[in-house]
Amino acid sequence: MLLLVLIILRENHQRTLDVIESVRTDYITSQKTYVTRQVDAVLNQLWYEKNRTEERLRNDIRDRVKQAHTIVESLYYSNQHKPRQEIVELIRQAIDPLRFNDGRGYFFIYTLDGTNVLHPINEDLEGRNLLELQDSKGNYIVRNMLSRIEQNDDGSAFYRWWFVKPGNAEREFEKIGFAKRFSPLNWVIGTGEYIDDVERDTQQRMKEWLEGYRMETNGYFFAVDQHGNNIVRLAKRWSNTSPLMTSTLFNAELKELSLSEAELVSYTSPYWSNAKHDPQKMSYIRRMPDWGWVIGGGVFMAEVEHYIADQITELKAQNVIELTKVLGLCSLLAAILLFLSLILSRYIQRRFKVLHRRIDADFSQLKESKQLLAHQAEHDGFTGLPNRALLEKKILQGIELSRVNQKQLAVMFVDLDNFKKVNDQYGHKIGDALLAGVADRFSHLLRSEDTVARFGGDEFVFCFPLVDGLDHAEYLAERVRHSISGAFSFDGAMITTDCSVGVAMYPSDGDSVDQLISNADIVLYRAKSGHKGKVRFYDERISQQIQYDFLVEDELKQALERSEIEVYYQPQVHPRTGELVSMEALCRWNSQKLGFVSPEKFIALAEQSGLIFALGEYVFRRACLDIKTLQQRGEHVTVSINISPKQVLQRGFVTDVYCIVNELDVDCRLITLEVTENVFMEELDRVKPVFKDLRELGFGISLDDFGTGYSSLSYLNALPITEIKIDRTFVDKMLSSSRSENLVRSIIAIGQSNRILVVAEGVETSEQQIRLHNLGVTRLQGYLFSPPIPFDILQERYFSHQSTDLSDWELEEKVKVP
Ligand code: C2E
Ligand code: CA
Ligand code: CA
Repeated sequence: MLLLVLIILRENHQRTLDVIESVRTDYITSQKTYVTRQVDAVLNQLWYEKNRTEERLRNDIRDRVKQAHTIVESLYYSNQHKPRQEIVELIRQAIDPLRFNDGRGYFFIYTLDGTNVLHPINEDLEGRNLLELQDSKGNYIVRNMLSRIEQNDDGSAFYRWWFVKPGNAEREFEKIGFAKRFSPLNWVIGTGEYIDDVERDTQQRMKEWLEGYRMETNGYFFAVDQHGNNIVRLAKRWSNTSPLMTSTLFNAELKELSLSEAELVSYTSPYWSNAKHDPQKMSYIRRMPDWGWVIGGGVFMAEVEHYIADQITELKAQNVIELTKVLGLCSLLAAILLFLSLILSRYIQRRFKVLHRRIDADFSQLKESKQLLAHQAEHDGFTGLPNRALLEKKILQGIELSRVNQKQLAVMFVDLDNFKKVNDQYGHKIGDALLAGVADRFSHLLRSEDTVARFGGDEFVFCFPLVDGLDHAEYLAERVRHSISGAFSFDGAMITTDCSVGVAMYPSDGDSVDQLISNADIVLYRAKSGHKGKVRFYDERISQQIQYDFLVEDELKQALERSEIEVYYQPQVHPRTGELVSMEALCRWNSQKLGFVSPEKFIALAEQSGLIFALGEYVFRRACLDIKTLQQRGEHVTVSINISPKQVLQRGFVTDVYCIVNELDVDCRLITLEVTENVFMEELDRVKPVFKDLRELGFGISLDDFGTGYSSLSYLNALPITEIKIDRTFVDKMLSSSRSENLVRSIIAIGQSNRILVVAEGVETSEQQIRLHNLGVTRLQGYLFSPPIPFDILQERYFSHQSTDLSDWELEEKVKVP
């Protein structure tokens, strides 16, 4: 804006200067034009008057001569009767005194032969013939006059000659004359006039005219002769301001400025060089050379300047107004711009703030979610405890810490006992609450360097660095157990729980994170499979066992291919007669490498590794083949085949067994499938339809190891069971423990009331046999009668006699409850 104003000011200043300059130029030009015109007009007038001098002179003298002629004529005719001489005299006396033009003018009379009749100025010439009279230039004055009259028809003529003036005989002046013939007397009457004199008259007249001549207000006018004398009476102002007119200086000036003959134009100022007095004049001068006059006009520069100054003042005033307007406008514009920019900046600022806040919010949100993600990546979402990944880190750090401090580190794998039971009994909500409660209590146990992580499900892992030794570790483990020994209360339900702990120590049980965790896991597993709620430490024996387990698992894979697996049969007998009624198929493995391996061992490993399916199918097929052999021999003995819970729960199990039975054409009713009761707890809904299908096909279903599981009795009604096998631990204890006997008694009672066969296994003594028989057990199985034996021996021992075909009815009787 400032720049704009500066530019405008500058422009304006320049324009003002230009305008002033143009005003000045225009004004001066107009003044010049005016002065020039005026002076030119005056000069033209002078020239006009001068040029008319001779003409006026001629007219004048012709008129005068005609007058004289009229006078002569009237005198002559009025006196005709008088003698010629008298008439002549009369005329002479009349014409002689006539004067005109200030007394300069007179008439003369000549005869046609050139003799002077009258000459009022020079009487000496009268009577003389002046034909031969010449002027100074050699002109024949009278002769020329007469010859010209002769030539003209009207008898008159103008003529010229040079002649002295009266009182001045030294110099001749040109004269113009006019003469007219007066025929009656053969005269010529004429007069003459000096041109110079007439011109002087004209000059005089022009002087008077010039005196009345005025320039306009601002100008002056002057006329001087060659000597610099004023020839007109000057206007008052002019005469006051120009005292130089008279000086010879003027002539010199004129010469100096080389005034031409015709005219001079000059506007140089000061024109007349005496600048001290009146320097500020501008004049236009022209010369009238014939008269030796110089006339001129001019303007006072002061007046010009005054005028221009006025103009400038006005212009400046206008300028100031204009500038004020521009400045006002600029200020207004600046104010508006300022206002707008203020608003805009406010707006932008606001937007920036909002943006800034948003970015901040985004940023902190990002940070939060990053932290959350980082936290989530290392923590269990449910309990908020560190997860496996963080645990591994902590163990690694703990190992380093303990190594540096020459201490030990304990990794404790903790598993809640019977957590699944709690879940089933109270629902998942309470189960979750229990987990959270346990996590809370666990985390209160920690020292700053300790860590507890949730490993999954109901498993927790502690990491205790800086442990002094096994005693210290044991103390810590007991504290862990003790921490959750108090009952938990959720929604009014009081829940007690316990846990099993597997401990692995650094450096004795491993020096890597994986090793320590997995060893702790192993001993936990061991702890659980033994007595729950125990703390177990990893040791060399376990380590060897594990290695052995690996070996067994490895060998088992090849055992089936190598046909190392055999199926033995253990007879089930009638409690009273001891007669064989049925038998249980039990698999045996005599490994080339490992020797005899107990089924309890390899079955468990087969279940863990998935080999159980192939193994189970093999045993089933084998048993069917053996049944078929017996069938072909006419022996219809029922066979119990052990089925792993995993098999039962496997999809397509029913179809598989049916296919085999169908293929080998074995009567399904001869086969009882033995399943340990423990499995049904959790999978009742899945097991139920499978059992139903099996029953419909005709298979018998036996609950093995009955009494060891939970709620054994409760779901007997829910499942289509045909047989219960009282676990041998009860048989073993029943004679010494009345509790066991009562249990056996009630099992038998339930079986009887539900029309279910009750088999007692592990019968080793006849006392047991008698007691069981008395209690009403359907069948007995045990070493008392026979250990499991190969099929050959069984055949030999029990089926060497001639057999008889059993009718369907007889078979039913054998199989069903007595
Ligand atoms: P189980 O089904 O309870 O089998 C009975 C076990 O008790 C057999 O052990 C048998 O030899 C043993 N036994 C029989 N009478 C007496 C006795 O009077 N006293 C004592 N102390 N024991 C007696 P075994 O053959 O070692 O089988 C152990 C377990 O392995 C079986 O327990 C069964 O659960 C499992 N098993 C065996 N064969 C198979 C099989 O083919 N399939 C499946 N799934 N499991 C099998
Ligand atoms: Ca069994
Ligand atoms: Ca059993």
